Amino acid sequence: MPDEVRCTCARCRLHGLMGPAILITIGVLFLIQQFSNRITFGELWPVILIVIGGVKLLEATASTAGHVEKEKDA
Ligand SMILES: [Zn+2]
Repeated sequence: MPDEVRCTCARCRLHGLMGPAILITIGVLFLIQQFSNRITFGELWPVILIVIGGVKLLEATASTAGHVEKEKDA
């Protein structure tokens, strides 16, 4: 694994949460489908877009105080 500098500012932390948030959402939606006789994933998938939008929104408004720019040596 490369020795990468991980920024811990609010925006970068939210950015890192995007993947897990989407996976958890998809998991919950499939779970709802399993336990519901009427609601299917086909009807629930837009929730994923809402979650992505929500995280993006938080990311855009999050503080970048203490942000560390990744340095890439050419
Ligand atoms: Zn940062």
